[in-house]
Amino acid sequence: GNSSQKTAILSVYNKTGLLDLAKGLTQNGIRLLASGGTAKLIREAGMEVQYVHTTLSEDSDRESVHDVSSITHAPEMLGGRVKTLHPSVHAGILARDLESDEKDLAEQNIDKVDYVVCNLYPFKDTIAKINVTIPEAVEEIDIGGVTLLRAAAKNHSRVTILSDPEDYPNFLEELKKGEVTEASRKLYALKAFEHTADYDSAISEFFRKRYAGEGVQQLTLRYGANPHQKPAQAYVTSGNLPFKVLAGSPGYINLLDALNSWALVKELKEALDLPAAASFKHVSPAGASVGLPLSDIEKKLCFVDDIEGLDNSPLACAYARARGADRMSSFGDWIALSDEVDAITAKIISREVSDGVIAPAYSAEALEILKKKKGGKYTVLQMDPNYEPASSETRQVYGVSLSQGRNDVKINAKTFSKVITPANAELPKQAVIDLTVATIALKYTQSNSVCYAKNGQVVGLGAGQQSRIHCTRLAGDKCDNWWLRQHPKIFQFKWKKGTKRPDKSNAIDLFVSGQVPDKVEGGMERELYESVFEEVPEELTAEEKKAWRKQLTDVVVSSDAFFPFVDNVFRAASSGVKYAAAPSGSVNDQAVHDAAEKCGITFVEQSTRLFHH
Ligand code: 5GP
Repeated sequence: GNSSQKTAILSVYNKTGLLDLAKGLTQNGIRLLASGGTAKLIREAGMEVQYVHTTLSEDSDRESVHDVSSITHAPEMLGGRVKTLHPSVHAGILARDLESDEKDLAEQNIDKVDYVVCNLYPFKDTIAKINVTIPEAVEEIDIGGVTLLRAAAKNHSRVTILSDPEDYPNFLEELKKGEVTEASRKLYALKAFEHTADYDSAISEFFRKRYAGEGVQQLTLRYGANPHQKPAQAYVTSGNLPFKVLAGSPGYINLLDALNSWALVKELKEALDLPAAASFKHVSPAGASVGLPLSDIEKKLCFVDDIEGLDNSPLACAYARARGADRMSSFGDWIALSDEVDAITAKIISREVSDGVIAPAYSAEALEILKKKKGGKYTVLQMDPNYEPASSETRQVYGVSLSQGRNDVKINAKTFSKVITPANAELPKQAVIDLTVATIALKYTQSNSVCYAKNGQVVGLGAGQQSRIHCTRLAGDKCDNWWLRQHPKIFQFKWKKGTKRPDKSNAIDLFVSGQVPDKVEGGMERELYESVFEEVPEELTAEEKKAWRKQLTDVVVSSDAFFPFVDNVFRAASSGVKYAAAPSGSVNDQAVHDAAEKCGITFVEQSTRLFHH
């Protein structure tokens, strides 16, 4: 060939702008080579183009005018499966300006290729058709085009790769001025890499749905966050899903809860070496705890005083605490358990309203109990306890991908070693346990978040508040309610026979939060309230509540970011907080620490901000 003449290879499915491009290339003295359909179109427009492969012209007249030569000296084969796949094409593209490469080309009589124009078969359009068959999809898997794109993009220091018709005008503009700039070649190469990556992920997604086996690598979900958000699925791009569906079928929000709550209990168990449980709602914990034994009062508070053998199962204790902390919020929860689920734990679960559970294993008896729940529709997931997620995570919001390093910071006793005030204070063991529970709970709570804990469990958690003080108050109010629910008067309630557990929880919640409907003006709401009682209880007076609240001590509080104002400290103190942990960094740090000191709160600097969204 003429070594000074530049060469372009064109092979496009989408022929938009092709003729203008060919014209521009020709005008710049560039030799055109093209695959079957692409060459035909250019030739029919009266331009000169050589076929990449050997072809018999359908038009013998034209054949006599044009030299239908090919550079591969091989025909297009297998009904188009092999068109441009040939060393004389790819060596021409991949050759560098190196003596050894030049020598190889000369020996094989191959010309360098300078420009490649290629876009791929419409795989996505084909598979978007309803009832597309696998053979139909297979035929749309472009081989040679991907190779052209990849080879040219790889060698972009010398070769220009055009994969988007939108780039043709700009390319011709540069060509007219002299040469395609290095900056453009780089951007075109990047585009080509994105094009093949997108293409390949469409292909693997298509086959993942058909070949991976439902529930192994991919799981089809009924819908997304809402019923109209279809289709929906969960999948991994390598290996298998880290959980198995043992019963029921998880929804999209179930999986958000399951994966977050599993991480929470796994970390809690690792940090404290005790079985752990979490009760999730809307991707935040309503409760989380480790399996410390319950006092008789706590058993009543958590509605588990009738459970035989509870004391023998630390896991059941953990779940009783997690489920009993905020019974209103836990209604219809997603449960995570750190250890093999035993029959006692399953029994507690079986009589509460709940959506599903994730755990590393289930005893045969436990699984049988759970499978009967919700008319057989209760969702039971078995988690691979050794699963380690990738260190980087990506999601899409409004079409934009956001990626970040996973929040893999470890929270444990060491996290609470920097006591700010009082100087040289040492935290008691229980405070370290409770701060660990509260802080790991925050790590998996929608921000802003503040968590109060005691006795190895969350006792008040404020999630998803835009204002920190609102969070501290919300969590503090929940803590107060949790404490007030242990008031002796509540255990003396005379329930009407057959009153359901959620109705009891609701009545207790109204009672402790001071929202009992008015005797006179309460109307139907009052009637409903009264209907659960054999004897409607006398409300607590403000003095009684105050006196009771004074007995609440040794609560811990943790915050997912610094306290910006002292009001948070005062609010926490009024719910019996004795130990607080929060990051520093506020202009008010000193004032916050001073306030803690005044309130008799031991303040620990927890050095990692724990926002979660
Ligand atoms: P044409 O319309 O020119 O016959 O074909 C253009 C299409 O073929 C482009 O989408 C290009 O990506 C694809 N292509 C180019 N070379 C090959 C090959 O060797 N095998 C296959 N299967 N497709 C190719």
